Amino acid sequence: MKDDLYSQIIEDTAELVRRAAHPRKGTISLSPETAALLERIRVRPSVDPPVVAETPGDGVALLQALAAEVSECTKCDLCHSRTQTVFADGNPSADLVFVGEAPGYNEDQQGIPFVGRAGQLLTDIIVKGMKMRREDVYICNVIKCRPPENRDPTLEEKRQCESYLIRQLELVRPKVICALGGHAAKTLLQTDESTGHLRGKWHFYHGIPLRVTYHPAYLLRSPGEKSKTWDDIQEIMKVLSGEIAPEPPAGEKTLWD
Ligand code: SF4
Repeated sequence: MKDDLYSQIIEDTAELVRRAAHPRKGTISLSPETAALLERIRVRPSVDPPVVAETPGDGVALLQALAAEVSECTKCDLCHSRTQTVFADGNPSADLVFVGEAPGYNEDQQGIPFVGRAGQLLTDIIVKGMKMRREDVYICNVIKCRPPENRDPTLEEKRQCESYLIRQLELVRPKVICALGGHAAKTLLQTDESTGHLRGKWHFYHGIPLRVTYHPAYLLRSPGEKSKTWDDIQEIMKVLSGEIAPEPPAGEKTLWD
């Protein structure tokens, strides 16, 4: 239904642009405001029918099959510059999924998300702060291939790759998602708001409670913000312990409902 709505918006916008266009050297002039509006309209990747795992073992096997599919993916140009794809790390039936934006140099070299100094800080948050093991959570990124020179992924790259994330979440079925940093949060929530505005409250990604916090790399540069991340992590721990259960907006179903 949502996809139909987005498609309708795109079609209506295209029709309005067609009607407003004046042929002039084959170009269409748009005001900066209209261009900004169009930039914000992002088509959700189509969500295939849920891939239902009959047993926990099925989920693991299906995730392995998906990882193999991703390793061969050539849907966007990032396939040309990657060393290897970076699919995920951790427990395939975890209650908590951390989602970052895209692999960096170390991740591209090792094929594992969140390694290097930022990855070590995330591990410290999990182990020392949450008293869990890194193997207890599931860690992945929106984008599975490293953008050259660590540039921001384009909208098209995100759109192409996000369908893999959705299928991962269908199979892992977490209770809660933690978006690490502004890029991941903006992609998942389709917003331009800053991390500062997004953190401190519950959001939902396809019906799954989502908390936004600062990226570990940012915390390395701004250690004064660590206490805010700890506040976010404590809210996530309340969901994991069953102390709270954020309710999605009426009518919003999870991927597997
Ligand atoms: S970034 Fe995603 S969509 Fe692009 S080639 Fe890699 S796996 Fe495929």
